[in-house]
Amino acid sequence: MHSLKLSRIVKTFGPIEVLKGVDLEVKPGEFVVFVGPSGCGKSTLMRIIAGLETQTSGTVEIGGRNVDATVPAKRGIAMVFQSYALYPHLTVAGNMTLALKEDGVPKAEREARVEKAAGLLQLTPLLKRRPAELSGGQRQRVAIGRAIVREPQLFLFDEPLSNLDAALRVATRLEIAKLHRTLNATMIYVTHDQVEAMTLADRIVILNGGTVQQVGRPIDLYNRPDNLFVAGFIGSPK
Ligand code: ADP
Ligand code: MG
Repeated sequence: MHSLKLSRIVKTFGPIEVLKGVDLEVKPGEFVVFVGPSGCGKSTLMRIIAGLETQTSGTVEIGGRNVDATVPAKRGIAMVFQSYALYPHLTVAGNMTLALKEDGVPKAEREARVEKAAGLLQLTPLLKRRPAELSGGQRQRVAIGRAIVREPQLFLFDEPLSNLDAALRVATRLEIAKLHRTLNATMIYVTHDQVEAMTLADRIVILNGGTVQQVGRPIDLYNRPDNLFVAGFIGSPK
């Protein structure tokens, strides 16, 4: 598991400053949830951490190492998005193993990792199916499985449950909480769902307009919001 340190992250798109100097330290094994209104820069920040987007200024450290010049594949990160593009022609097992093949992981090791991840995510009976034969929730679990098999030190989840119906959202949220306990990995998770944030997070980061409004344990944000925006979000009667 890896620590994460963001220092003064600024990102501009043309004339628009989307991130205005974000500082954050995440401890190894911590579950940190980013929340904030649509357009406040959550996905941009995740993409910068993953190396899919370059910050205008500021630094990203993963596991105590500056990764600003490190390509995404070498950052030890796995990302799970809202839109989980699975390969339709491959089975569940094929989808989960593909990146491992590209990484050069030997076949026996690949199979062992897929079996373990499938067990964790209750995908074992589905390994031979193709994505078209799965429900939305099952597909999202495959997308999570595909991330797990790479044994990343840091997971990034960007609204992974938004496409699921309410019951599946709860079930998948519980799976993710279980994974965090089992894998002992560091997890950064974006949501605009207060219940997800309150139940999953060790600490919540409230973002608005490209700045961090407050960082703290769910109970502390609830009891002692720093401003009305945080109070409104967490729903505490200030
Ligand atoms: P969130 O995930 O919090 O909804 P985003 O990080 O996706 O927000 O977007 C933050 C802002 O940056 C939005 O105003 C969005 O339109 C803008 N933005 C994001 N990506 C780009 C891009 N590639 N080019 C221009 N503007 C972008
Ligand atoms: Mg987003």
